[in-house]
Amino acid sequence: MAQQNHQRELSFRDSVDVMFDRAAAHLDEPDGIKHKIKVCNSVYKVRFGVKLRGSLHTFTGYRAVHSEHMEPVKGGIRYALSVNQDEVEALAALMTYKCSLVQVPFGGSKGGLAIDPNEWDEEELERITRRFTYEFAKRDLIHPSQNVPAPDMGTGEREMAWIADAYRRLHPTDINANACVTGKPRHIGGIAGRVEATGRGVQYAVQAFFTHPEDVVKAGLDGGIEGKRIVVQGLGNVGYHAAKFLSEEDGALITAVIERDGAIIDETGIDIDDLKFHITQHGGLSGYGKGTYVEDGPAVLEQECDVLIPAAIEGAINGGNAAAIKAPVIVEAANGPVTANADAILRDKGVVIIPDMYANAGGVTVSYFEWVKNLTHIRFGRMQRREEEKRNLALFKELERLTGKPLAPEFKAKFGQGADELDLVRSGLDDTMRSAYARMREALLTKPDLGDMRTAAYYCSLLDIATSYRSLGL
Ligand code: GLU
Repeated sequence: MAQQNHQRELSFRDSVDVMFDRAAAHLDEPDGIKHKIKVCNSVYKVRFGVKLRGSLHTFTGYRAVHSEHMEPVKGGIRYALSVNQDEVEALAALMTYKCSLVQVPFGGSKGGLAIDPNEWDEEELERITRRFTYEFAKRDLIHPSQNVPAPDMGTGEREMAWIADAYRRLHPTDINANACVTGKPRHIGGIAGRVEATGRGVQYAVQAFFTHPEDVVKAGLDGGIEGKRIVVQGLGNVGYHAAKFLSEEDGALITAVIERDGAIIDETGIDIDDLKFHITQHGGLSGYGKGTYVEDGPAVLEQECDVLIPAAIEGAINGGNAAAIKAPVIVEAANGPVTANADAILRDKGVVIIPDMYANAGGVTVSYFEWVKNLTHIRFGRMQRREEEKRNLALFKELERLTGKPLAPEFKAKFGQGADELDLVRSGLDDTMRSAYARMREALLTKPDLGDMRTAAYYCSLLDIATSYRSLGL
C-alpha cells in the first residue's frame, strides 16, 4: 500500500485512459475499435484578444471533441485558471462515456477558458464570453446539430444566455438557434429543473444504491438513506443541491462540508441552506457559528462517515490520501475526483465507488431534455397537462360515488393535477438514473469479473459506442 501511495500521479487524461483500459480488456472487440473510441478526435485551441480596461488582454480557450459517433457532441464550458488541454480532453472523454451509459444520444465534448472569473466584472465577462462564442461558432464548435455546450465549473445560466444570444446574432435565420447551448435561463428557452439537475441526479444515484440491499450490505452498511452520515466536498451548484436534497428530502445527515477555505463538521447534521447562505454572504466558511470549523479542509475527506461525496475538482482523492479514506461508499459527483492511483487503492480496501460517469450524469440528461424542447419549440406538458387533470378529477369523482366517501383533500390536490414541465423533467431524470443503475448492476451480475461499478459503467458504455462505430462502417 505504501508503495502505491508514492506512485506518481498520472495526468487527468491518462488516469481516465487507465480506467478505460481496465474495462476495454473485458470487451470482445478488435483493438482498432477500442483505440478509436479511446482517443480524442480533435481539440481546438484558440487565443483571442479582448480590449478591456484600456489594454488588449489575450485569453486562451479550448474545445475538445472526443467522439462523434453521435452528433451533436455535448459537454460543458469551464471557466477556471487551471483549464488546459489535458483536462478538457479528459473531461470530453468522460462526456462520451457518460452520455452512452445513460443513453443520451450525444457524442462527448468539453470546453474551457483559462480565466479566473472573479477577476473580471460582469460586463467584462460578457464581452469575453461573446468573443469566445464567436471563435467557436464560426468553426461549428457551437452549433445545434454539431456541438452543444452547457454550464460547468465557473459558468452558469448567465454565460449560457450570452452564448445563445451571440450565436443567434451570427445565425439570425436559424429557427433552431436556441438549441446551440443548454443550461439557459427559463425565459430564453431553458428548461425547468436544469440548474438543480446534476445534484438531483446525484440524489437519484444514491437512492438507486440504497434501494438495492445486497449492494448496501456489500459496502458494510444497512438500511436506507435516512440517518446516514454524509461528507460533501464542495458546496457549488452540484454539491449544494445534492446535499440539500439528500438531507431535506431523504433524511441523511450532512456531517461535514468541505470548501476551499476549510470545513465545517457537525455530527448532528448541517443545515445546508443556512450554510450556503453564510458562504454567499461572507465569501467562505469562516465565521459560521454552528458546528466545528476546521482549517485543513482536505483532511476532512478522511473523516469517518457512511458516504463521501466529492463534488469539487478532479483528483481530490489521490495516491496521497486514498489509503486514509474511511468512507465505505464514495459517490463521484464531480468529474474525475478519484485518480487511477486512488481507484486501485480504494478497490483493494473494498470501498464501493459510484462512478462519475453515472453519478453526475443528471446535468447532461436534463440538457438533453432542454435541447429536445428547443427543437420542438414547445414546453413539455403543455398539450397534455389539462387533459390529465380532467381524467384524474373524473376518476376521483367516480371513486367517491362508488365508495360514498370523500377522498382526502391533500390526496386530491397532490394527484389531481396533470404533470407540468418540472414533474416531467424529474420523472425523465429519475427513470434515466434508475435504468442506468440497473444496467451497471446487470453487467456486474452477468460478468462478475468486471469487479466494480466503474468498470461495469465503462463496459456498458463502451459496448454501445462500439456498436455505433460498427454501424458507421468503421
Ligand atoms: N458540465 C456538465 C457535465 O459535466 C453538463 C454537460 C451538459 O449538460 O452538456 O456533465
